[in-house]
Amino acid sequence: DDIHPKEIAKELAEKYAKIGRGSLSLWENLPILRKDQSTFYVDLYASIIVLKEKKYILGSIRDVTERKHLTDMKNSFMDMVSHELRTPFSVIKESYSLILDETLGTINSQQREMLDMAKDNIDRLARLINQVLTTERFESGKMEYNFAKHDINKIINQVSNDLQFLAKKKNLKLILKLDQNLPKVKIDKDKIIEVLINLIDNAVKFTDQGFVKITSRKENKNIKVIVEDSGRGIKEEDIGKIFQKFTQIERKPGGTGLGLTISKTIIEAHKGQIWVESIYGKGSKFNFIIPI
Ligand code: ADP
Repeated sequence: DDIHPKEIAKELAEKYAKIGRGSLSLWENLPILRKDQSTFYVDLYASIIVLKEKKYILGSIRDVTERKHLTDMKNSFMDMVSHELRTPFSVIKESYSLILDETLGTINSQQREMLDMAKDNIDRLARLINQVLTTERFESGKMEYNFAKHDINKIINQVSNDLQFLAKKKNLKLILKLDQNLPKVKIDKDKIIEVLINLIDNAVKFTDQGFVKITSRKENKNIKVIVEDSGRGIKEEDIGKIFQKFTQIERKPGGTGLGLTISKTIIEAHKGQIWVESIYGKGSKFNFIIPI
């Protein structure tokens, strides 16, 4: 107890007990006091070994003060960046909306076309930055969830309304098949919106003709949502890879290879599952379930 700060005394007892039971083998960023009461950080690796029928704990510690310092710096930098980016984006959005709505006077079709293009690209940029920052938050363990009961169909309707224009641009039918008798589910609404945007955006992106279909239904004790497309599909050998960070089977502009990784993290935080079924050349079917 003498070598650790008093504030972690309770945590310390629990964690050392776990180490003793063999259920904890690595404790990251454990603070330790120097003689002068300043703190440094270590990773503590522990394993139980048996020697001549006696059990011992074999521990090794590694000074990670520098790494922790760098991680803290990186985190506060990312916080600053994500905060600072929000303002210019909302100002830009407000500005072009005012012009597009013709609040400031009429615009001709050529000007509208240019502004539409600017809007598309700003939205794309916002999505990209958002994905990078979201991944960063997951990794630093800083993502917070706000769970509340929601009607998932309402959310699906809202997202598909927002993304309707993407499908329209490619002449794809956006079909909704929603079970009207679904119970409400406890979810983080904004995060589920992000999952739906990722899946629908992908479905449109990788489909050149046909449809994108969104289905909701109750299945056992879960709500199941399916985003299906008649697009290019995914080869069997690639299916295992696409949920991994930065994976893009074929590079497409505007993608980060992060969308599915983020979606998986979000669905798993809801104690659900996400997976894909696909026939190469025919289309893909992304499914996720969330327990009711
Ligand atoms: P991004 O879309 O930014 O490339 P994702 O993580 O969302 O990243 O997707 C990873 C990869 O999975 C995509 O680059 C693509 O190769 C494949 N993929 C995702 N959705 C589909 C889909 N509906 N049809 C075909 N391939 C897909």
